[in-house]
Amino acid sequence: MPKTEQLKAQLAELGQAFRKRLEQELPELVRQAEQLQNTEQVEPALQQLQGQLHKLAGSAGTFGHTALGERARELEQLAKHCLADPAAADEARKRLREGLCQLPLLLNQSRPEPQDSQPLESALPDEQGQQHILMLEHDPELARQTSQTLSNFGYQVTILEQADSLITQLDSGQYAALIIDISPEVAGHQALGALQRWQAGRVPPLPVIAISTDSAFAARLEAVRAGARGFFTKPVDLTVLENRLRRSFEVQQDDPFRVLVVDDDQELAERFKAILDNAGMRVETVLDPAQLIKRMNAFQPDVVLMDINMPHYSGIELAQMIRLNDNWLRVPIIYLSAETDTVAQMAALLKAGDDFVSKPISDAALLTTVYARAQRARLVSQALARDSMTGLLKHADIKEQVELEVERALRTQQPVSIAMIDIDHFKSVNDNHGHAVGDTVIRALANLLRQRLRRIDRIGRYGGEEFVAVLPNCAAADAKAILDSIREAFSALQFSSGSKLFQCTFSAGISACEAPDWCLDEPLELADQHLYQAKQQGRNRVIGVSLS
Ligand code: GH3
Ligand code: MG
Ligand code: MG
Repeated sequence: MPKTEQLKAQLAELGQAFRKRLEQELPELVRQAEQLQNTEQVEPALQQLQGQLHKLAGSAGTFGHTALGERARELEQLAKHCLADPAAADEARKRLREGLCQLPLLLNQSRPEPQDSQPLESALPDEQGQQHILMLEHDPELARQTSQTLSNFGYQVTILEQADSLITQLDSGQYAALIIDISPEVAGHQALGALQRWQAGRVPPLPVIAISTDSAFAARLEAVRAGARGFFTKPVDLTVLENRLRRSFEVQQDDPFRVLVVDDDQELAERFKAILDNAGMRVETVLDPAQLIKRMNAFQPDVVLMDINMPHYSGIELAQMIRLNDNWLRVPIIYLSAETDTVAQMAALLKAGDDFVSKPISDAALLTTVYARAQRARLVSQALARDSMTGLLKHADIKEQVELEVERALRTQQPVSIAMIDIDHFKSVNDNHGHAVGDTVIRALANLLRQRLRRIDRIGRYGGEEFVAVLPNCAAADAKAILDSIREAFSALQFSSGSKLFQCTFSAGISACEAPDWCLDEPLELADQHLYQAKQQGRNRVIGVSLS
Protein backbone atom coordinates (compact mmCIF):
# COMPACT_ATOMS: atom_id res chain seq x y z
CA MET A 1 0.00 0.00 0.00
CA PRO A 2 1.41 3.46 -0.81
CA LYS A 3 2.38 5.43 2.25
CA THR A 4 -0.35 8.06 2.08
CA GLU A 5 -2.98 5.32 1.66
CA GLN A 6 -1.51 3.54 4.63
CA LEU A 7 -1.73 6.72 6.69
CA LYS A 8 -5.34 7.26 5.61
CA ALA A 9 -6.25 3.73 6.63
CA GLN A 10 -4.49 4.16 9.96
CA LEU A 11 -6.19 7.48 10.66
CA ALA A 12 -9.57 6.00 9.72
CA GLU A 13 -9.02 3.17 12.15
CA LEU A 14 -8.05 5.56 14.95
CA GLY A 15 -11.05 7.70 14.08
CA GLN A 16 -13.30 4.68 14.57
CA ALA A 17 -11.68 3.83 17.88
CA PHE A 18 -12.21 7.42 18.95
CA ARG A 19 -15.84 7.30 17.89
CA LYS A 20 -16.40 4.11 19.86
CA ARG A 21 -14.94 5.81 22.89
CA LEU A 22 -17.27 8.78 22.45
CA GLU A 23 -20.22 6.42 22.15
CA GLN A 24 -19.44 5.33 25.70
CA GLU A 25 -18.26 8.64 27.10
CA LEU A 26 -21.10 10.87 25.93
CA PRO A 27 -23.93 8.87 27.61
CA GLU A 28 -21.77 8.95 30.72
CA LEU A 29 -21.67 12.75 30.48
CA VAL A 30 -25.45 12.78 30.15
CA ARG A 31 -25.73 10.64 33.27
CA GLN A 32 -23.49 13.04 35.16
CA ALA A 33 -25.60 15.96 33.93
CA GLU A 34 -28.72 14.34 35.32
CA GLN A 35 -27.02 13.83 38.65
CA LEU A 36 -26.26 17.54 38.84
CA GLN A 37 -29.88 18.02 39.77
CA ASN A 38 -29.97 15.77 42.76
CA THR A 39 -26.51 15.93 44.23
CA GLU A 40 -25.46 18.00 47.21
CA GLN A 41 -21.91 18.12 45.99
CA VAL A 42 -22.44 20.31 42.97
CA GLU A 43 -19.01 21.82 42.89
CA PRO A 44 -16.84 18.70 42.51
CA ALA A 45 -19.34 17.36 39.97
CA LEU A 46 -19.10 20.56 37.97
CA GLN A 47 -15.33 20.51 38.13
CA GLN A 48 -15.20 16.99 36.84
CA LEU A 49 -17.58 17.90 34.04
CA GLN A 50 -15.54 20.91 33.08
CA GLY A 51 -12.39 18.80 32.83
CA GLN A 52 -14.10 16.25 30.63
CA LEU A 53 -15.60 18.90 28.38
CA HIS A 54 -12.20 20.55 28.06
CA LYS A 55 -10.66 17.31 26.85
CA LEU A 56 -13.54 16.66 24.49
CA ALA A 57 -13.26 20.16 23.03
CA GLY A 58 -9.65 19.46 22.07
CA SER A 59 -9.90 15.92 20.83
CA ALA A 60 -13.24 15.91 18.96
CA GLY A 61 -12.14 18.67 16.60
CA THR A 62 -8.80 17.02 15.92
CA PHE A 63 -10.67 13.90 14.79
CA GLY A 64 -12.88 16.00 12.53
CA HIS A 65 -16.02 16.21 14.73
CA THR A 66 -15.95 19.96 14.49
CA ALA A 67 -19.49 20.79 15.65
CA LEU A 68 -19.22 18.45 18.61
CA GLY A 69 -15.89 19.95 19.63
CA GLU A 70 -17.20 23.49 19.40
CA ARG A 71 -20.31 22.65 21.40
CA ALA A 72 -18.14 20.99 24.05
CA ARG A 73 -16.10 24.15 24.31
CA GLU A 74 -19.23 26.28 24.82
CA LEU A 75 -20.44 23.91 27.52
CA GLU A 76 -17.03 23.98 29.16
CA GLN A 77 -17.37 27.77 29.42
CA LEU A 78 -20.83 27.33 30.84
CA ALA A 79 -19.55 24.91 33.48
CA LYS A 80 -16.85 27.40 34.34
CA HIS A 81 -19.47 30.08 34.70
CA CYS A 82 -21.56 27.90 37.03
CA LEU A 83 -18.52 27.27 39.18
CA ALA A 84 -17.56 30.92 39.37
CA ASP A 85 -20.99 32.21 40.24
CA PRO A 86 -23.06 29.65 42.17
CA ALA A 87 -25.82 32.18 42.87
CA ALA A 88 -26.64 32.86 39.26
CA ALA A 89 -26.17 29.28 38.31
CA ASP A 90 -29.64 27.78 38.33
CA GLU A 91 -30.49 28.83 34.81
CA ALA A 92 -26.95 28.18 33.61
CA ARG A 93 -26.94 24.71 35.10
CA LYS A 94 -30.18 23.94 33.34
CA ARG A 95 -28.65 24.99 30.03
CA LEU A 96 -25.59 22.94 30.78
CA ARG A 97 -27.74 19.86 31.41
CA GLU A 98 -29.68 20.35 28.23
CA GLY A 99 -26.54 20.93 26.24
CA LEU A 100 -24.92 17.80 27.59
CA CYS A 101 -27.98 15.75 26.70
CA GLN A 102 -27.69 16.88 23.11
CA LEU A 103 -24.06 15.84 22.66
CA PRO A 104 -24.82 12.20 21.67
CA LEU A 105 -27.13 13.57 19.00
CA LEU A 106 -24.36 15.75 17.62
CA LEU A 107 -22.13 12.72 17.41
CA ASN A 108 -24.74 10.85 15.39
CA GLN A 109 -25.04 13.71 12.94
CA SER A 110 -21.33 14.20 12.63
CA ARG A 111 -19.49 12.87 9.58
CA PRO A 112 -15.86 13.67 10.20
CA GLU A 113 -14.26 15.38 7.25
CA PRO A 114 -11.04 13.63 6.26
CA GLN A 115 -8.24 16.15 6.20
CA ASP A 116 -6.19 16.56 3.10
CA SER A 117 -3.09 14.51 3.56
CA GLN A 118 -0.47 15.61 1.10
CA PRO A 119 2.89 14.04 0.38
CA LEU A 120 4.63 14.84 3.63
CA GLU A 121 7.87 13.11 3.03
CA SER A 122 10.93 14.33 1.25
CA ALA A 123 12.74 12.06 -1.18
CA LEU A 124 15.26 9.80 0.49
CA PRO A 125 18.45 8.58 -1.15
CA ASP A 126 18.07 5.42 -3.28
CA GLU A 127 19.56 2.03 -2.44
CA GLN A 128 23.02 3.16 -3.50
CA GLY A 129 22.68 6.15 -1.21
CA GLN A 130 22.40 8.51 -4.18
CA GLN A 131 20.26 11.59 -3.97
CA HIS A 132 18.42 12.61 -7.11
CA ILE A 133 18.62 16.21 -8.16
CA LEU A 134 16.46 17.80 -10.82
CA MET A 135 17.97 20.64 -12.83
CA LEU A 136 16.03 22.97 -15.12
CA GLU A 137 18.69 24.52 -17.31
CA HIS A 138 18.52 25.59 -20.93
CA ASP A 139 22.27 26.07 -21.33
CA PRO A 140 23.60 22.61 -22.27
CA GLU A 141 27.17 23.45 -21.27
CA LEU A 142 26.27 24.58 -17.75
CA ALA A 143 23.92 21.59 -17.44
CA ARG A 144 26.71 19.22 -18.47
CA GLN A 145 29.26 20.74 -16.08
CA THR A 146 26.87 20.75 -13.16
CA SER A 147 25.81 17.20 -13.83
CA GLN A 148 29.45 16.14 -14.05
CA THR A 149 30.50 17.89 -10.84
CA LEU A 150 27.52 16.70 -8.84
CA SER A 151 27.93 13.13 -10.03
CA ASN A 152 31.53 13.30 -8.81
CA PHE A 153 30.02 14.09 -5.45
CA GLY A 154 27.77 11.07 -5.79
CA TYR A 155 24.49 12.72 -6.75
CA GLN A 156 22.36 11.65 -9.67
CA VAL A 157 21.23 14.57 -11.82
CA THR A 158 18.32 14.74 -14.25
CA ILE A 159 18.41 17.65 -16.66
CA LEU A 160 15.25 19.29 -17.95
CA GLU A 161 15.61 21.75 -20.79
CA GLN A 162 11.96 22.75 -21.01
CA ALA A 163 9.87 24.07 -18.16
CA ASP A 164 6.61 22.36 -19.29
CA SER A 165 7.19 19.11 -17.49
CA LEU A 166 8.74 20.63 -14.34
CA ILE A 167 5.71 20.11 -12.11
CA THR A 168 5.04 16.59 -13.39
CA GLN A 169 8.64 15.71 -12.65
CA LEU A 170 8.45 17.21 -9.16
CA ASP A 171 5.20 15.36 -8.50
CA SER A 172 7.01 12.07 -9.04
CA GLY A 173 8.46 12.71 -5.57
CA GLN A 174 11.87 11.23 -6.36
CA TYR A 175 13.92 14.42 -6.16
CA ALA A 176 15.76 15.63 -3.09
CA ALA A 177 16.34 19.11 -4.52
CA LEU A 178 15.79 21.30 -7.56
CA ILE A 179 18.35 23.50 -9.27
CA ILE A 180 16.59 26.01 -11.49
CA ASP A 181 17.89 28.66 -13.84
CA ILE A 182 15.64 31.67 -13.36
CA SER A 183 17.50 34.13 -15.56
CA PRO A 184 14.93 36.66 -16.87
CA GLU A 185 15.19 35.50 -20.46
CA VAL A 186 14.70 31.77 -19.92
CA ALA A 187 11.88 29.29 -19.43
CA GLY A 188 12.69 28.62 -15.79
CA HIS A 189 11.63 32.15 -15.03
CA GLN A 190 8.13 31.51 -16.31
CA ALA A 191 7.96 28.33 -14.24
CA LEU A 192 8.55 30.25 -11.01
CA GLY A 193 4.86 30.95 -10.38
CA ALA A 194 3.96 27.30 -10.81
CA LEU A 195 6.85 26.32 -8.57
CA GLN A 196 5.71 28.74 -5.87
CA ARG A 197 2.21 27.24 -5.95
CA TRP A 198 3.62 23.74 -5.92
CA GLN A 199 5.72 24.52 -2.84
CA ALA A 200 2.90 26.19 -0.91
CA GLY A 201 2.05 24.14 2.14
CA ARG A 202 4.65 21.45 1.53
CA VAL A 203 6.31 20.28 4.74
CA PRO A 204 9.22 20.22 4.37
CA PRO A 205 9.53 22.41 1.28
CA LEU A 206 11.69 21.00 -1.51
CA PRO A 207 15.13 22.66 -1.35
CA VAL A 208 15.64 24.86 -4.39
CA ILE A 209 18.88 26.38 -5.63
CA ALA A 210 18.35 29.26 -8.05
CA ILE A 211 20.80 30.32 -10.73
CA SER A 212 20.44 33.61 -12.54
CA THR A 213 22.21 36.16 -14.67
CA ASP A 214 20.31 38.78 -12.70
CA SER A 215 21.49 39.47 -9.16
CA ALA A 216 18.98 42.22 -8.34
CA PHE A 217 16.88 42.28 -5.17
CA ALA A 218 13.70 41.44 -7.11
CA ALA A 219 15.27 38.32 -8.60
CA ARG A 220 16.38 37.12 -5.17
CA LEU A 221 12.98 37.80 -3.71
CA GLU A 222 11.29 35.75 -6.43
CA ALA A 223 13.72 32.94 -5.78
CA VAL A 224 13.06 32.96 -2.05
CA ARG A 225 9.33 32.89 -2.68
CA ALA A 226 9.80 29.72 -4.68
CA GLY A 227 11.67 28.10 -1.80
CA ALA A 228 15.25 28.96 -2.75
CA ARG A 229 17.91 28.10 -0.17
CA GLY A 230 20.71 29.22 -2.43
CA PHE A 231 21.11 31.88 -5.10
CA PHE A 232 23.98 31.88 -7.56
CA THR A 233 24.80 34.35 -10.28
CA LYS A 234 26.56 33.16 -13.37
CA PRO A 235 29.31 32.10 -13.78
CA VAL A 236 28.47 29.53 -11.11
CA ASP A 237 31.15 28.16 -8.81
CA LEU A 238 29.99 24.55 -8.78
CA THR A 239 31.81 23.35 -5.68
CA VAL A 240 30.28 26.21 -3.71
CA LEU A 241 26.91 25.31 -5.19
CA GLU A 242 27.37 21.72 -4.08
CA ASN A 243 28.18 22.90 -0.58
CA ARG A 244 25.00 24.93 -0.47
CA LEU A 245 22.99 22.04 -1.82
CA ARG A 246 24.33 19.73 0.84
CA ARG A 247 23.56 22.25 3.58
CA SER A 248 20.04 22.80 2.32
CA PHE A 249 19.13 19.15 2.74
CA GLU A 250 17.13 18.49 5.72
CA VAL A 251 18.98 17.72 8.85
CA GLN A 252 16.37 15.00 9.28
CA GLN A 253 17.68 12.87 6.46
CA ASP A 254 20.73 11.58 8.23
CA ASP A 255 18.86 10.82 11.37
CA PRO A 256 15.06 11.15 11.68
CA PHE A 257 13.73 13.70 14.15
CA ARG A 258 12.70 12.09 17.41
CA VAL A 259 9.44 13.33 18.90
CA LEU A 260 8.08 12.35 22.29
CA VAL A 261 4.29 12.76 22.63
CA VAL A 262 3.03 13.01 26.21
CA ASP A 263 -0.75 12.73 26.26
CA ASP A 264 -3.07 10.61 28.35
CA ASP A 265 -5.58 10.46 25.49
CA GLN A 266 -4.51 7.31 23.70
CA GLU A 267 -6.34 7.77 20.40
CA LEU A 268 -5.14 11.34 20.14
CA ALA A 269 -1.54 10.39 20.92
CA GLU A 270 -1.73 7.61 18.32
CA ARG A 271 -3.10 10.03 15.77
CA PHE A 272 -0.24 12.47 16.32
CA LYS A 273 2.18 9.59 16.07
CA ALA A 274 0.71 8.37 12.77
CA ILE A 275 0.95 11.82 11.20
CA LEU A 276 4.49 12.52 12.32
CA ASP A 277 5.64 8.98 11.50
CA ASN A 278 4.39 9.49 7.99
CA ALA A 279 6.61 12.56 7.65
CA GLY A 280 9.66 10.44 8.40
CA MET A 281 9.97 11.27 12.10
CA ARG A 282 10.37 8.75 14.88
CA VAL A 283 7.68 9.07 17.49
CA GLU A 284 7.17 7.55 20.89
CA THR A 285 4.12 8.16 23.04
CA VAL A 286 3.98 8.41 26.80
CA LEU A 287 0.50 7.81 28.18
CA ASP A 288 1.62 7.57 31.79
CA PRO A 289 3.47 10.75 32.80
CA ALA A 290 5.22 8.94 35.63
CA GLN A 291 7.30 7.22 32.93
CA LEU A 292 8.39 10.52 31.41
CA ILE A 293 11.93 10.86 32.77
CA LYS A 294 12.80 7.25 32.05
CA ARG A 295 11.55 7.61 28.49
CA MET A 296 13.35 10.91 27.94
CA ASN A 297 16.60 9.20 28.90
CA ALA A 298 16.05 6.21 26.68
CA PHE A 299 14.72 8.05 23.64
CA GLN A 300 16.60 11.38 23.69
CA PRO A 301 13.90 13.30 21.82
CA ASP A 302 14.54 16.37 19.68
CA VAL A 303 11.11 17.73 20.60
CA VAL A 304 8.51 17.03 23.30
CA LEU A 305 4.81 17.46 22.55
CA MET A 306 3.13 17.93 25.90
CA ASP A 307 -0.54 17.73 26.77
CA ILE A 308 -1.45 20.16 29.56
CA ASN A 309 -4.39 18.57 31.31
CA MET A 310 -3.65 15.10 32.52
CA PRO A 311 -4.95 13.30 35.58
CA HIS A 312 -2.76 13.88 38.66
CA TYR A 313 -0.15 15.98 36.83
CA SER A 314 -0.21 19.07 34.69
CA GLY A 315 1.89 19.26 31.55
CA ILE A 316 3.41 22.46 32.90
CA GLU A 317 4.74 20.63 35.95
CA LEU A 318 6.16 17.92 33.73
CA ALA A 319 7.80 20.52 31.49
CA GLN A 320 9.38 22.09 34.58
CA MET A 321 10.67 18.67 35.59
CA ILE A 322 12.28 18.23 32.18
CA ARG A 323 13.95 21.60 32.57
CA LEU A 324 15.52 20.52 35.86
CA ASN A 325 17.92 18.40 33.83
CA ASP A 326 20.72 20.37 32.16
CA ASN A 327 20.97 17.86 29.32
CA TRP A 328 17.47 18.72 28.17
CA LEU A 329 17.65 22.48 28.30
CA ARG A 330 17.82 22.59 24.51
CA VAL A 331 14.87 20.27 23.87
CA PRO A 332 11.87 22.35 22.76
CA ILE A 333 8.64 21.60 24.59
CA ILE A 334 5.44 22.30 22.69
CA TYR A 335 2.24 22.35 24.69
CA LEU A 336 -0.74 20.78 23.06
CA SER A 337 -3.78 22.00 24.81
CA ALA A 338 -7.44 22.80 24.47
CA GLU A 339 -6.61 25.95 26.42
CA THR A 340 -7.55 28.96 24.33
CA ASP A 341 -7.13 31.61 26.99
CA THR A 342 -3.98 33.47 25.94
CA VAL A 343 -3.30 34.69 29.47
CA ALA A 344 -3.23 31.11 30.71
CA GLN A 345 -1.05 30.16 27.74
CA MET A 346 1.46 32.86 28.53
CA ALA A 347 1.54 31.88 32.19
CA ALA A 348 2.40 28.33 31.14
CA LEU A 349 5.16 29.50 28.81
CA LEU A 350 6.70 31.58 31.57
CA LYS A 351 7.09 28.49 33.74
CA ALA A 352 8.53 26.23 31.07
CA GLY A 353 7.87 25.29 27.47
CA ASP A 354 8.46 27.03 24.17
CA ASP A 355 5.29 27.03 22.18
CA PHE A 356 1.57 26.55 22.37
CA VAL A 357 -0.58 24.69 19.93
CA SER A 358 -4.28 24.64 20.62
CA LYS A 359 -6.34 21.55 20.12
CA PRO A 360 -8.18 20.90 17.91
CA ILE A 361 -5.20 20.97 15.60
CA SER A 362 -5.04 20.22 11.90
CA ASP A 363 -2.55 17.63 10.70
CA ALA A 364 -0.69 20.24 8.67
CA ALA A 365 -0.39 22.65 11.61
CA LEU A 366 0.87 19.90 13.90
CA LEU A 367 3.44 18.80 11.38
CA THR A 368 4.68 22.29 10.57
CA THR A 369 5.09 23.25 14.20
CA VAL A 370 6.92 20.09 15.18
CA TYR A 371 9.06 20.09 12.05
CA ALA A 372 10.15 23.70 12.45
CA ARG A 373 11.01 23.25 16.12
CA ALA A 374 12.86 19.99 15.57
CA GLN A 375 14.83 21.38 12.67
CA ARG A 376 15.94 24.42 14.62
CA ALA A 377 16.85 22.35 17.66
CA ARG A 378 18.93 20.03 15.49
CA LEU A 379 20.69 22.90 13.77
CA VAL A 380 21.55 24.49 17.09
CA SER A 381 22.92 21.32 18.62
CA GLN A 382 24.85 20.53 15.45
CA ALA A 383 26.31 24.01 15.44
CA LEU A 384 27.53 23.42 18.96
CA ALA A 385 28.83 19.90 18.46
CA ARG A 386 30.30 20.10 14.98
CA ASP A 387 33.05 21.83 13.14
CA SER A 388 31.44 25.00 11.89
CA MET A 389 33.18 25.08 8.53
CA THR A 390 32.52 21.52 7.39
CA GLY A 391 29.75 20.29 9.68
CA LEU A 392 31.91 17.25 10.48
CA LEU A 393 32.76 15.96 13.94
CA LYS A 394 35.41 17.89 15.79
CA HIS A 395 38.84 16.54 16.68
CA ALA A 396 37.96 15.16 20.13
CA ASP A 397 34.67 13.65 18.95
CA ILE A 398 36.11 11.75 16.00
CA LYS A 399 38.88 10.42 18.27
CA GLU A 400 36.20 9.16 20.60
CA GLN A 401 34.40 7.53 17.67
CA VAL A 402 37.60 5.72 16.71
CA GLU A 403 37.83 4.27 20.20
CA LEU A 404 34.15 3.33 20.34
CA GLU A 405 34.21 1.62 16.96
CA VAL A 406 37.41 -0.29 17.69
CA GLU A 407 35.85 -1.55 20.92
CA ARG A 408 32.75 -2.53 19.02
CA ALA A 409 34.82 -4.34 16.40
CA LEU A 410 36.55 -6.39 19.07
CA ARG A 411 33.24 -7.18 20.70
CA THR A 412 31.40 -8.16 17.52
CA GLN A 413 34.40 -9.55 15.62
CA GLN A 414 33.51 -7.35 12.67
CA PRO A 415 36.37 -5.39 11.11
CA VAL A 416 36.69 -1.62 11.31
CA SER A 417 38.93 0.61 9.19
CA ILE A 418 40.31 4.02 10.04
CA ALA A 419 41.44 6.43 7.35
CA MET A 420 43.50 9.55 7.78
CA ILE A 421 43.27 11.93 4.85
CA ASP A 422 45.34 15.03 4.11
CA ILE A 423 45.10 17.39 1.16
CA ASP A 424 48.29 17.57 -0.91
CA HIS A 425 50.29 20.77 -1.14
CA PHE A 426 47.51 22.68 0.47
CA LYS A 427 49.79 25.53 1.48
CA SER A 428 50.24 26.37 -2.17
CA VAL A 429 46.44 26.47 -2.69
CA ASN A 430 46.27 29.12 0.00
CA ASP A 431 49.32 30.91 -1.38
CA ASN A 432 48.12 30.94 -4.97
CA HIS A 433 44.40 31.49 -4.53
CA GLY A 434 43.86 32.89 -1.06
CA HIS A 435 42.51 31.47 2.16
CA ALA A 436 38.84 31.75 1.16
CA VAL A 437 39.35 29.57 -1.89
CA GLY A 438 41.32 27.17 0.33
CA ASP A 439 38.27 26.95 2.58
CA THR A 440 36.11 26.02 -0.41
CA VAL A 441 38.45 23.12 -1.16
CA ILE A 442 38.26 21.91 2.46
CA ARG A 443 34.47 22.05 2.38
CA ALA A 444 34.34 20.27 -0.95
CA LEU A 445 36.38 17.37 0.39
CA ALA A 446 34.23 17.24 3.53
CA ASN A 447 31.09 17.04 1.39
CA LEU A 448 32.58 14.48 -0.91
CA LEU A 449 33.45 12.24 2.03
CA ARG A 450 29.99 12.66 3.49
CA GLN A 451 28.38 11.94 0.18
CA ARG A 452 30.48 8.92 -0.74
CA LEU A 453 30.78 7.20 2.62
CA ARG A 454 27.91 5.30 4.21
CA ARG A 455 25.57 6.55 6.87
CA ILE A 456 27.17 4.38 9.50
CA ASP A 457 30.62 5.79 8.78
CA ARG A 458 31.90 8.58 11.02
CA ILE A 459 33.82 11.51 9.59
CA GLY A 460 35.69 14.21 11.43
CA ARG A 461 37.86 17.20 10.68
CA TYR A 462 41.00 16.23 12.50
CA GLY A 463 42.91 19.41 11.82
CA GLY A 464 43.11 22.17 9.20
CA GLU A 465 43.01 20.15 5.98
CA GLU A 466 43.20 16.77 7.60
CA PHE A 467 40.28 14.39 8.03
CA VAL A 468 39.64 11.11 9.80
CA ALA A 469 37.00 8.59 8.71
CA VAL A 470 35.93 5.54 10.68
CA LEU A 471 34.39 2.76 8.60
CA PRO A 472 32.69 0.05 10.66
CA ASN A 473 32.19 -3.43 9.14
CA CYS A 474 34.80 -2.64 6.54
CA ALA A 475 38.10 -4.47 6.04
CA ALA A 476 41.29 -2.60 5.08
CA ALA A 477 41.19 -3.77 1.47
CA ASP A 478 37.61 -2.52 1.01
CA ALA A 479 38.42 0.74 2.74
CA LYS A 480 41.33 1.25 0.36
CA ALA A 481 39.09 0.69 -2.66
CA ILE A 482 36.51 3.17 -1.35
CA LEU A 483 39.12 5.79 -0.50
CA ASP A 484 40.72 5.34 -3.90
CA SER A 485 37.44 6.02 -5.66
CA ILE A 486 36.90 9.12 -3.51
CA ARG A 487 40.47 10.18 -4.28
CA GLU A 488 39.77 9.94 -8.01
CA ALA A 489 36.53 11.88 -7.69
CA PHE A 490 38.27 14.59 -5.68
CA SER A 491 41.11 14.95 -8.16
CA ALA A 492 38.53 15.42 -10.94
CA LEU A 493 36.82 18.36 -9.21
CA GLN A 494 37.38 21.73 -10.86
CA PHE A 495 37.85 24.56 -8.42
CA SER A 496 37.66 28.12 -9.56
CA SER A 497 39.61 31.09 -8.35
CA GLY A 498 38.70 34.22 -10.25
CA SER A 499 38.91 33.17 -13.86
CA LYS A 500 41.43 30.40 -13.14
CA LEU A 501 40.51 26.75 -12.72
CA PHE A 502 42.59 24.36 -10.66
CA GLN A 503 42.48 20.85 -9.20
CA CYS A 504 43.59 19.27 -5.94
CA THR A 505 44.53 15.82 -4.71
CA PHE A 506 44.78 14.14 -1.35
CA SER A 507 46.76 11.33 0.22
CA ALA A 508 45.40 8.86 2.74
CA GLY A 509 46.62 6.23 5.15
CA ILE A 510 44.45 3.38 6.41
CA SER A 511 44.69 1.13 9.43
CA ALA A 512 42.28 -1.63 10.28
CA CYS A 513 41.21 -3.69 13.19
CA GLU A 514 40.44 -7.04 11.60
CA ALA A 515 41.14 -10.77 11.55
CA PRO A 516 43.43 -12.49 12.24
CA ASP A 517 45.25 -10.41 14.85
CA TRP A 518 42.54 -7.82 15.72
CA CYS A 519 44.59 -6.09 18.28
CA LEU A 520 45.30 -2.52 17.39
CA ASP A 521 46.72 -0.25 20.04
CA GLU A 522 47.08 2.99 18.18
CA PRO A 523 44.92 2.86 15.07
CA LEU A 524 45.22 6.59 14.42
CA GLU A 525 48.98 6.51 14.72
CA LEU A 526 49.26 3.63 12.27
CA ALA A 527 46.95 5.40 9.82
CA ASP A 528 49.13 8.49 10.18
CA GLN A 529 52.26 6.46 9.42
CA HIS A 530 50.62 5.13 6.27
CA LEU A 531 49.62 8.64 5.33
CA TYR A 532 53.23 9.72 5.74
CA GLN A 533 54.31 6.89 3.43
CA ALA A 534 51.74 7.99 0.86
CA LYS A 535 53.16 11.51 0.94
CA GLN A 536 56.70 10.15 0.66
CA GLN A 537 55.82 8.10 -2.38
CA GLY A 538 54.59 11.09 -4.30
CA ARG A 539 51.13 11.93 -2.91
CA ASN A 540 47.69 11.40 -4.55
CA ARG A 541 47.54 7.83 -3.28
CA VAL A 542 46.08 5.64 -0.55
CA ILE A 543 48.21 3.31 1.49
CA GLY A 544 46.38 0.64 3.39
CA VAL A 545 48.86 -2.05 4.28
CA SER A 546 52.11 -1.56 6.05
CA LEU A 547 55.10 -1.50 3.74
CA SER A 548 57.61 -2.11 6.50
P1 GH3 B 1 51.36 18.11 2.16
O1 GH3 B 1 51.09 17.67 0.79
O2 GH3 B 1 52.65 17.59 2.70
O3 GH3 B 1 50.24 17.82 3.09
O4 GH3 B 1 51.53 19.68 2.07
P2 GH3 B 1 50.65 20.82 2.66
O5 GH3 B 1 50.96 22.05 1.94
O6 GH3 B 1 49.23 20.42 2.65
O7 GH3 B 1 51.25 20.90 4.11
P3 GH3 B 1 50.60 21.03 5.52
O8 GH3 B 1 49.65 19.93 5.78
O9 GH3 B 1 51.70 21.19 6.49
O10 GH3 B 1 49.83 22.43 5.43
C1 GH3 B 1 48.54 22.61 5.73
C2 GH3 B 1 48.18 24.03 5.50
O11 GH3 B 1 46.77 24.18 5.58
C3 GH3 B 1 48.75 24.97 6.52
C4 GH3 B 1 47.63 25.92 6.88
O12 GH3 B 1 47.95 27.24 6.58
C5 GH3 B 1 46.49 25.50 6.02
N1 GH3 B 1 45.23 25.49 6.72
C6 GH3 B 1 44.97 24.90 7.91
N2 GH3 B 1 43.66 25.10 8.23
C7 GH3 B 1 43.10 25.83 7.23
C8 GH3 B 1 41.80 26.35 7.00
O13 GH3 B 1 40.86 26.17 7.77
N3 GH3 B 1 41.60 27.05 5.86
C9 GH3 B 1 42.60 27.25 4.96
N4 GH3 B 1 42.30 27.92 3.86
N5 GH3 B 1 43.85 26.79 5.17
C10 GH3 B 1 44.10 26.07 6.27
MG1 MG C 1 48.44 18.75 3.46
MG1 MG D 1 48.17 18.73 6.98
